[in-house]
Amino acid sequence: MFWVFILTIVVGISETNVINTQKLADEDTKQENDIEENFNETVETISAQEKISPNAIVTEKRYYKKCDHLIREVLDIPEELINKTEDDLESYYSTWKVEEYSPDEITVYKEFNGICNEHYVIKQKGDILAVYTENEQGILTWEEDTEIETQYLPEEDIEEFKVGKKVVGKTNLYTFLEDYE
Ligand SMILES: [Zn+2]
Repeated sequence: MFWVFILTIVVGISETNVINTQKLADEDTKQENDIEENFNETVETISAQEKISPNAIVTEKRYYKKCDHLIREVLDIPEELINKTEDDLESYYSTWKVEEYSPDEITVYKEFNGICNEHYVIKQKGDILAVYTENEQGILTWEEDTEIETQYLPEEDIEEFKVGKKVVGKTNLYTFLEDYE
């Protein structure tokens, strides 16, 4: 009977030890987590304050409701924003929505009511083809002359260019003209 009693006490003690050790281990882990969380917060604070790089690029996205076109323009960062913060960027683009921000890459977005300025018309102008833009009222504005001479073009193409061939988008315009150069 006596031995059984001793044995119980020993087991009891070692069980208590195990529990205590476990508790301590948990506390260690908790402390480590706390340290890690604080570290992450510090990193976030630093990156939020990080200045805009002189090599940063800005993508301006303009959405035109009337023609449903989204025009993207990639620009160098305006000089007055170099080494400035995200807050400065937001006040500079106060009427825009800042979609993406990092010190190297910024994307801003804005909606417009009218049509975009990339509705081109390629038209015969004397002996050559010229590029015009068409506004909401269908009025053409001359943009530039090309070096494409109409005398070398097929008859049916010339007929089309007399009326005016419509092309939407700068990229499509260049691709279209390249085919004739
Ligand atoms: Zn458009």
